[in-house]
Amino acid sequence: MLNRRTFLSKSALLGLFAFAPFAKSCADPEQSAPLATPEGPPRFPMLITTWNHGIPANEAAWEVIAAGGKAIDAVEQGVRVVENDPEGHSVGLGGAPDRDGHVTLDACIMDETGNCGAVCFLEHIKNPISVARKVMDETPHVMLAGEGALQFALEQGFEKENLLTEESEKLWKKWRETSDYKPLINIENHDTIGMLALDKEGNISGACTTSGLAYKMRGRVGDSPIIGAGLFCDNEVGGAVATGMGELVMKTLGTFLVVELMRQGRSPQQACEEAVDRIAKKLPNFDDFQIGFLAINKRGEHGSYAIHKGFNYALHDGKSNELIDSDFLME
Ligand code: ASP
Repeated sequence: MLNRRTFLSKSALLGLFAFAPFAKSCADPEQSAPLATPEGPPRFPMLITTWNHGIPANEAAWEVIAAGGKAIDAVEQGVRVVENDPEGHSVGLGGAPDRDGHVTLDACIMDETGNCGAVCFLEHIKNPISVARKVMDETPHVMLAGEGALQFALEQGFEKENLLTEESEKLWKKWRETSDYKPLINIENHDTIGMLALDKEGNISGACTTSGLAYKMRGRVGDSPIIGAGLFCDNEVGGAVATGMGELVMKTLGTFLVVELMRQGRSPQQACEEAVDRIAKKLPNFDDFQIGFLAINKRGEHGSYAIHKGFNYALHDGKSNELIDSDFLME
């Protein structure tokens, strides 16, 4: 844990090189921006989804929303598109394996009633989000892991598949030449997919699904399937999703924090900035990693913030489906 003195010296050092962006966000809380003042009518339905692959995910989710469907069905259908895409190496089929060559998937889903389901360390099933939905709908539990999650999925009729595509196997074999385990700052636009939906009724739901960090240790589970870390929704307030180095999000319970800050009156943008600042103030070497938070409130106001440049998200409001670059703490 970073102590105050270390943080101050780190801040001072950063100040020498990157004073402006850092100072903006790590300002004295007493001097931080005023609470949000809602203006205009609420805007929904609306979808927001992490990274470039948010665009096709939003397209599929919008079909559900436009037909009058519920947010929970929209987010499930939306992220499945990306889970099914073998070209993406961060989610579902074709996801990067762990360092031993096994593809292990994490996902969670949460609806407007506070009901939720999750799976982690799940192998051989390309749609973990739908298994998570089944955990939510068909069991008294919230999360199933590993062998138990697979057994449940097979009982529910999911197909057992090899998720390691030729391409991801090739990349893994290349990595094994050095086996250099150094999670890099993730600024490429292909990462965990987190989606938040406000349906025509203004109800909110969210989904989050990933293959986790490429070449992780076997058994490693990140933030994405953890309710309150990778995803949190509260129908009185709004919702948030996270992407990036899961360990940092888990240590700060990032999306729960974002939603609670919105409950206290922060705008989604202010809440995402404060959650990143919390990581920057508390965790050592935070700047070695990328984290992005994305949030929406019940009025359809949305915001995002990341440690590093490069995070983006897709916004669908029925008129357009477009990519928006996130604001960030450091260049
Ligand atoms: N948050 C995910 C994890 O740590 C990975 C990512 O979004 O890059 O498993």
